[in-house]
Amino acid sequence: MSANTWEAAELRSLAKELVARHPVDGDPLAFLRARFDAGLAWVHFPVGLGGLGAPRALQSAVDEELAAAGAPDNDPGRIGIGLGMAAPTILRHGTPAQQRRFLRPLWTGQEVWCQLFSEPGAGSDLAAVGTRAVRDGDAWVVSGQKVWTSLAHKARWAILLARTDPDAPKHQGMTYFVCDMTAPGVEVRPLRQITGEAEFNEVFLTDVRLPDDLRLGAPGEGWAVARTTLMNERVAIGGTPVPREGGPIEPLVRAWREWPEVRTAGLHDELMRLWVRAEAARLTGARLRQQLAAGEPGPEGSAVKLTHAMLTQRITGLELEVLGEAGLRHDDWTLRRPERTDVLDRAATHRYLRAKGNSIEGGTSEVLRGIIAERVLGLPAEPRTDTTVAWKDLPR
Ligand SMILES: Cc1cc2nc3c(=O)[nH]c(=O)nc-3n(C[C@H](O)[C@H](O)[C@H](O)COP(=O)(O)OP(=O)(O)OC[C@H]3O[C@@H](n4cnc5c(N)ncnc54)[C@H](O)[C@@H]3O)c2cc1C
Repeated sequence: MSANTWEAAELRSLAKELVARHPVDGDPLAFLRARFDAGLAWVHFPVGLGGLGAPRALQSAVDEELAAAGAPDNDPGRIGIGLGMAAPTILRHGTPAQQRRFLRPLWTGQEVWCQLFSEPGAGSDLAAVGTRAVRDGDAWVVSGQKVWTSLAHKARWAILLARTDPDAPKHQGMTYFVCDMTAPGVEVRPLRQITGEAEFNEVFLTDVRLPDDLRLGAPGEGWAVARTTLMNERVAIGGTPVPREGGPIEPLVRAWREWPEVRTAGLHDELMRLWVRAEAARLTGARLRQQLAAGEPGPEGSAVKLTHAMLTQRITGLELEVLGEAGLRHDDWTLRRPERTDVLDRAATHRYLRAKGNSIEGGTSEVLRGIIAERVLGLPAEPRTDTTVAWKDLPR
């Protein structure tokens, strides 16, 4: 069967067959492995790598069928970095051996991934990374410091951007690796956040030896590989499928229905405005996912991520107003190191405080506006003076 000749009904019947062969109440990992092997994990991936080469838009038919049958899911909240960032990058730039090694345990959730990109001196300006990787025989020796690494304390693998040629201009001297988080020299330290918990970490890399077969893409071509990750990251953060009135707007609407005594005309107006915007954002996300069926995500993904951040901050702010005093009660201030980024089951204060990070993580809103201005609207680019200078000669 070639791509695009698939129909939703065929995929639904494959999902039914899977459930008939592998009872949904058995071992969840065994079920997820069987689902991957049947090509029903991400149907648009190639055969043998969890997919069928089918149109991406047909994934929802499989998901609906399996959810209705009560099948276990792979807990996307726990493995979002693997699914949203590592997987599309490995698919596009990895060798066949890397794809076979990493994609199955990534998708089943058996192996959690994190992203070792940001550094104290390289966040928005990610091409400034200073973590060094030096070739030593058939391995690379990596040293440096990463920061804000979400879920590093749970991760088995990381996607890592490191500097391999300090004499080249900053965008040309980087190489992309998969980092073994269990390798000697990897140290993960919690960073406590405004919510009270430590969802992210600092990661210190001291003479970490990574075999060359953990390199993703050619030496010096790390920026091109990282761009695949970043484009997909923005879609993953802003374009996650949600049902109507789902996602951040859901607890606000629930609070509105349950607390009639706090309603005012002003709050009602604001709620309506945000509800309509949330619906528009949801449908824009759905349209973006359909466009993805035709190719790689473009800079339009930045607009979805930007909208998601602004909207979530306004929604969680209004939720606190609607709840009044009750909205000030925080649920847990102990230093937790969570397994997942989980907001919907937490207190309104947690949602409000966590939403502050939405306009920073995955590209700040200011930087995304710059990308939209340049690459979507075609406005003049910011003047750049550092693209031809060797990285080692840049002022720091
Ligand atoms: C909750 C959370 C989770 C994160 N998880 C991860 C992770 O798992 N892995 C990882 O690698 N990183 C992670 N990050 C880091 C995140 O990607 C960076 O914080 C982000 O890229 C911003 O970089 P910075 O913090 O160095 O800020 P800076 O780049 O120093 O920016 C500071 C300010 O200057 C503005 N600014 C910078 N450049 C420009 C410009 N050209 N035009 C206009 N304004 C500009 C920024 O918008 C911002 O307001 C996470 C961050 C958060 C908040």
